[in-house]
Amino acid sequence: MIAPTVVPVELAGRAYDILIGPGLIEAAGAELKARFPGARYCVITDETVAETHLERLAASLTDADLAFSSIVVTPGEGSKTFETLESVVDGVLSARMERGDLLIALGGGVIGDLVGFASGIVRRGMRFVQVPTTLLSQVDSSVGGKTGINTRHGKNLVGLFHQPALVLADTATLDTLTPRHMRAGYAEVVKYGLIDDAAFFAWLEANSAEIFAGGPARIGAIATSCRAKAQVVRIDETEQGPRALLNLGHTFGHAFETACDYDAERLVHGEAVAIGMVLAHEFSARLNLASPDDAARVKAHLSAVGLPTSIGEIPGGVGSADELMRAIFQDKKVKRGRLTFILTRGIGEAFIADDVVPEQVRDFLEEKLAG
Ligand code: NAD
Repeated sequence: MIAPTVVPVELAGRAYDILIGPGLIEAAGAELKARFPGARYCVITDETVAETHLERLAASLTDADLAFSSIVVTPGEGSKTFETLESVVDGVLSARMERGDLLIALGGGVIGDLVGFASGIVRRGMRFVQVPTTLLSQVDSSVGGKTGINTRHGKNLVGLFHQPALVLADTATLDTLTPRHMRAGYAEVVKYGLIDDAAFFAWLEANSAEIFAGGPARIGAIATSCRAKAQVVRIDETEQGPRALLNLGHTFGHAFETACDYDAERLVHGEAVAIGMVLAHEFSARLNLASPDDAARVKAHLSAVGLPTSIGEIPGGVGSADELMRAIFQDKKVKRGRLTFILTRGIGEAFIADDVVPEQVRDFLEEKLAG
């Protein structure tokens, strides 16, 4: 195996490494044995990932003489529930895991969020390792310690900040991912360029085909994304300020996901974020904060990799501007009648705007809905 790229997440008392590269599942046993002597493990994954990657992880743990058990849950957002959480907690306790043992989250963001939360509450807090297997989870959800489940009141409303002890991002696992989920994760990669790294965005424009194909550009894109996320988390772990920049495109995106009832057949998160990022740039241009050319450039790149970039591309429609505004108001705090949005002065120049006039957003959405 070629030496992995290491991105440290510097948090006093809770620092950890993100290892990025192909073959990390095969190397996991030796890596864990060296880092956490004497620990036992419980691997939690979903049925799809179990079919493709669990056997290799199990073989690696066995080869390193590590004791482990495994729990397999149903794939998809429907597993971020109290019910599945209870079954995972029950499985972990039945396996007699102690506080010094570790849970391993093998899967995408759903597994990472669920297992991270379970590890934060079992025995008042256990350590856990993220082994993310989707592009989205490798560049975003496995880093930063946000964990949780959904409730009937909305997504991610119950959870904890609980940092992993290690992230092993095996880039070869992405070879089995559906092209649709690969593209969706890529939207989050683009987001880091758009927030504050125009050179990275330009590099992505030139290298996207290689990133999708695999190889060094893929590792480079994931490492740059993780460095960007690690830096934001270091300065604002619990999102009191600048971590909110990571929500670029997400206010519009969440409204579209709500309008689609979180039906992944119609819209997956990264697709909603792609459309949301284009709209954030177009809305910023509308407010004369940024050039319309930047919005066009963002749209052209996302569209070139096959991501949707306009509301009209969402199958089944998203209702009226007023319905979308209701979803936005539910998602956002309103201060003195103004909304907080992530807007931009250009590519790589996103900022937190806390004085956005709701009527302007509504008029903009109405126009976009008209086509
Ligand atoms: P996911 O975990 O549902 O994975 C998508 C699908 O791909 C699933 O069906 C899964 O079984 C399958 N899959 C996973 N790895 C695979 C592989 N290597 N090969 C083949 N199939 C594979 O979804 P996701 O997009 O990874 O994550 C979305 C979740 O992440 C959402 O719940 C969202 O709220 C959460 N999220 C969390 C954070 C955070 O900071 N904690 C950030 C962003 C998103």
